[in-house]
Amino acid sequence: MIIRGGAVVTARGVDESDIEIADGRIIAVGANLGGAAADEIDATGLHIFPGGIDSHVHFNEPGRSEWETIANGSAALAAGGYTTFVDMPLNNLPVTTDAGAFELKLDAAARSSHVDFGFWGGLIPGNLEHLDELAKRGVSGFKAFMCPSGIDEFPACDAEVLRAGMQRIAELGSILLVHAEDPSRLDSPNGQTARDFIWSRPADAELEAITLAIGLAGDTGCRLHVVHVSTARGAELIDEAHQRGVDVSGETCPHYLLYVEDDMERLGGIAKCAPPFRTALDRERLWWMLRDGRLPMVVSDHSPSTLELKQGDDFSKLWGGISGCQSTRQLLLANNQKDRLELPVIAAATSTNVAKRFRLAGKGDIALGYDADLSLVDLSYEGVVRRKICSIAIPSARTKAGRSAAARSARWCAAEPCLSTGRSIGRREGGS
Ligand code: ZN
Repeated sequence: MIIRGGAVVTARGVDESDIEIADGRIIAVGANLGGAAADEIDATGLHIFPGGIDSHVHFNEPGRSEWETIANGSAALAAGGYTTFVDMPLNNLPVTTDAGAFELKLDAAARSSHVDFGFWGGLIPGNLEHLDELAKRGVSGFKAFMCPSGIDEFPACDAEVLRAGMQRIAELGSILLVHAEDPSRLDSPNGQTARDFIWSRPADAELEAITLAIGLAGDTGCRLHVVHVSTARGAELIDEAHQRGVDVSGETCPHYLLYVEDDMERLGGIAKCAPPFRTALDRERLWWMLRDGRLPMVVSDHSPSTLELKQGDDFSKLWGGISGCQSTRQLLLANNQKDRLELPVIAAATSTNVAKRFRLAGKGDIALGYDADLSLVDLSYEGVVRRKICSIAIPSARTKAGRSAAARSARWCAAEPCLSTGRSIGRREGGS
């Protein structure tokens, strides 16, 4: 197959190129490729991005598939131009903290995922002896919570458990992802409002936890990644440590780039997540850091539940999690129209940097030998992200306000190649 005439967007720049594909791999990229292929796609006027990689989703299967299934969530990703996900070790049941649970999830994903997939293993108190078997089965790395996760079966790690886990994970050559909020800085909300919830999870809780995790990473030599960084200072702490030589990275999510505290009150339970939305200054500074590369990636933290769990008078009791993996790249592209980010930065933040950081072989670039994971985007498209075009189970906070510049990426993905069965990336060796 040859895709002709598109503007190919990679982390290196934008070039008009043809792309030749055979057996699911890219075998040539260049202007005016010779020869004729049985299938040719005219991509004139379209931009071609490396397929998005969402390394932070909670698809809830097996065990909580009434919240969402892998089939449902992965279809949403495909419609949003995503071709790979790495699923968190919760909120599926059993949580992915040993080999048996891993095999159950692998079976579920192999059966029903529309895109390629990998898994994070869990680090919890008491499962140290299971880290090796999870690594052997090909987890992309491990995830731990420094505060209660909201799921009883996935308890938090204190500093000592983290230290022991990081020592082992360093020996395994793997990486630890942390939810960084210091439980000693978190309070029970004083009332039932969204504002009470926000006050109960102050920015300092994130900063304290990031500082502790960075210290442990330096001590143990464990590669560290901080998920869903909500504060600009938190992202700076990570960048400063990285500059000092600590092997640490961070990510943020579209909701921290789009919304502030007042929006959590305005939108209600559907916008509840932890950490909560922050200040307008945090939001602006996160954009700056994305633009200049100090903050390398944007992922969804897609965490759906049933709608009932997001509704009620007492905000503190509602499920915390935002459902919106379909629109991550679309929203960055939409904001690109206001000169927020250059297209290569968007390709890097939603694909290339994710693949590099988590060592996903063959993913994240449009170049010779890489997997032919592509998303064709019509940047002239304008529309509002609405529930009815989303494949996800419940509406997201973002459906109310996000403007999409890229919904036609779904045209390609929904048509055919992407919506075949995905495959596991976990056990692959080598490759480019
Ligand atoms: Zn999460």
